[in-house]
Amino acid sequence: MSRHRHSRLFREVNNRIYDLLESAEPDLPGEFLCECGRDCGRRVLLLPAEFANLRQAGQAVRSPDCRRRTELAGGVPALG
Ligand SMILES: [Zn+2]
Repeated sequence: MSRHRHSRLFREVNNRIYDLLESAEPDLPGEFLCECGRDCGRRVLLLPAEFANLRQAGQAVRSPDCRRRTELAGGVPALG
């Protein structure tokens, strides 16, 4: 599976997680998948509202570890 397709799949899974949380437990954080595209398998704990903010800003869900690595490498954020 290509990296692009992979991260899109993760975004779709996260959207589903968001829908479930938002309708069931909007005040509790849920575990979203890291969208760094490296198949890192990390989970990111976010409130539904925080996830919605990321989406509105056009940003991917990233675990702090992956974010740091991207910055170190001077990498381009994997959007979509
Ligand atoms: Zn990651």
